[in-house]
Amino acid sequence: MSAKPLYVTEPFLPPLEEVIPMLEQIWNSKFLTNGGPMHQQLERALCEHLGVPYISLFSNGTLALVTALQALRITGEVITTPYSFVATAHSLLWNGIKPVFVDVDPVHLNLDPKKIEAAITPQTTAIMPVHCYGNPCDVDEIQRIADRYNLKVIYDAAHAFGIQCHCGSVLNHGDMSILSFHATKVFNTFEGGAIVCQDAKTKQRIDHLKNFGFVDEVTVVAPGINGKMSELNAAIGLLQLKHVDEIHRLRGAVDARYREALRDVPGIECLTPGNATRHNHSYFPILVKPEYGRTRDGLYHYLKEFGINARRYFYPLISSFPMYRALPSSNPSNLPVAHRAAEQVLCLPIFPNLTESDQQRVIDAIRSGRG
Ligand SMILES: *Cc1c(COP(=O)(O)O)cnc(C)c1O
Repeated sequence: MSAKPLYVTEPFLPPLEEVIPMLEQIWNSKFLTNGGPMHQQLERALCEHLGVPYISLFSNGTLALVTALQALRITGEVITTPYSFVATAHSLLWNGIKPVFVDVDPVHLNLDPKKIEAAITPQTTAIMPVHCYGNPCDVDEIQRIADRYNLKVIYDAAHAFGIQCHCGSVLNHGDMSILSFHATKVFNTFEGGAIVCQDAKTKQRIDHLKNFGFVDEVTVVAPGINGKMSELNAAIGLLQLKHVDEIHRLRGAVDARYREALRDVPGIECLTPGNATRHNHSYFPILVKPEYGRTRDGLYHYLKEFGINARRYFYPLISSFPMYRALPSSNPSNLPVAHRAAEQVLCLPIFPNLTESDQQRVIDAIRSGRG
């Protein structure tokens, strides 16, 4: 007998009866892409929902990252974290920029501000931190360093949809923030992404860059790319938005049950929630410490025997992949905290429709797996 497989996430889908009228609107308008009515509506709705001044939608988060760097004309070296999804650093290589990896802090696994200054050189032009698992970076300290050295700050905020901190949306920190609306993220448009920026002129430049650099029918101002979101994806986004508060509530309940149930398991440590005033519960990372008696990889394979597919986000570190590992900053002695986290972290299933009994299977397996 084998139980139904459980995955780390399961996408939220709006009810089909809500989708069909949206499809009819698209079919009737025959506007399929290029900033149509769905696209315009979703940009407005997201600005309001997230509490940000300007947003430009993209076909995915990676193209949004690549375009953000272009829009700010970033060159030379950029300081970033090795503890992230590989697209963070890939966006630098796609722009001919040299990534400089700096270690993370041991509590939230975000870029450690105390270690940034030592990595700054005359070639450094920007800092690209990640709000890992949706826990806000130390945005004030990062901005102080950026101001002192005249650096731009581009946040990879792929995990930070809806996160609020001490002064409103965390997405309003730095020069730009990038969102991903991939199927596996808390808010999804199947594939999608966005750049959040702070003024109309920057938004206009981004809009040109995601449309081949076209300003009007006959004027091209930059070697832009095709990064536009289609009307179909924008329509899905509008429907998701109607359910986002409910999704948030359901995820919060899953998070609370794990924290309570795993509190007394020796060697299992739930990552401390960050100082957000509103979390999105996008991931549920645990650290598997030596006292558990089984390694993280041991637990990962043990859970698979029960059909539970937990994920090792983020292992391997970006700095360990072949196109990065020869960089001086990729030396493991430069990144001890990130390396330890990559060996201990395991992200457990969390999604709005995770039933209590399926979640109990995960909890029971973790309890029975102690070595
Ligand atoms: C998902 C993700 C991306 C990439 O977003 P896509 O929409 O899949 O291109 C970038 N950075 C981080 C941290 C992510 O988790």
